[in-house]
Amino acid sequence: MPLLVTTVSEFRQTLHAARRSGKTIGLVPTMGALHEGHLSLVRASRAECGFTAVTIYVNPTQFGPHEDFAQYPRTLESDLTLLSGLADVVFAPRDEEVYPPGFSTWVEVGSVAKPLEGVCRPGHFRGVATIVLKLFTMAWPDVAYFGQKDYQQALVIRRMAIDLNLPLTIRVCPIVREPDGLAMSSRNRYLAPDERQRATVLYQSLTQAANLVAQGETNASRITEAMRRTIQAANPKQIDYVAIADPETLEPVETIRGRTVALLAVRIGKTRLIDNMILEPP
Ligand code: AMP
Repeated sequence: MPLLVTTVSEFRQTLHAARRSGKTIGLVPTMGALHEGHLSLVRASRAECGFTAVTIYVNPTQFGPHEDFAQYPRTLESDLTLLSGLADVVFAPRDEEVYPPGFSTWVEVGSVAKPLEGVCRPGHFRGVATIVLKLFTMAWPDVAYFGQKDYQQALVIRRMAIDLNLPLTIRVCPIVREPDGLAMSSRNRYLAPDERQRATVLYQSLTQAANLVAQGETNASRITEAMRRTIQAANPKQIDYVAIADPETLEPVETIRGRTVALLAVRIGKTRLIDNMILEPP
């Protein structure tokens, strides 16, 4: 089992000692209910850094009032087992440890946080940026690892790191998928068997988009319409968005001339799933 710490001061002390002994520090922030997607980030950190810290914290401030904060899976024991031999320290704080009474300081990232998830989940990225900056200032990592699975989140964190001159490197690691293409997610465990089957439509619509672009289609609306038809066939509860956007700014793209990213958020039953794929024209 990795060393488990639950207070900010223990976490700081542990990382301070590692840094003093000359080790580079890798940080992997997570909300737990770990799967191979998370573990790929931990392995990337181990490959690059002498000391790997994993944080497990279901951050209340990034959930909206009607979202799944209460139901979000909390599986600390099995998470620790999965991290055996991979993480050097796991920080799993309680809410009181992270948010002092009277907490009222926020990090608000600008334009890249506004569209897509920013529209569907108001306040989400404010919560994400704030907790991630707090974790950065507790750990002062050399490198912090994020997944491309949360594409917009990675851009938001990158923007924050640049804008606040944070002395660290942000690495974004590829999406880890199930054999049938479904992006691994802690929320996949909400899916009933028939929903799990239907959820593969996210990946199918993204590969459809990638194929259309590879074949020379340049009209983004035609592609998103085709994706929507594919998704509708799986009878989703709702399509929150299907978009083709600039991969750096997330501004919508109408005519595809270079690299873009397709992003989507779809509700299958009660479960909201997101996924994305880079589209490369021929
Ligand atoms: P979460 O626990 O959902 O907040 O995710 C923690 C980190 O793991 C984030 O940087 C996610 O982007 C990343 N992550 C989650 N799922 C995957 C996946 N399937 N492949 C790669 N990274 C992932």
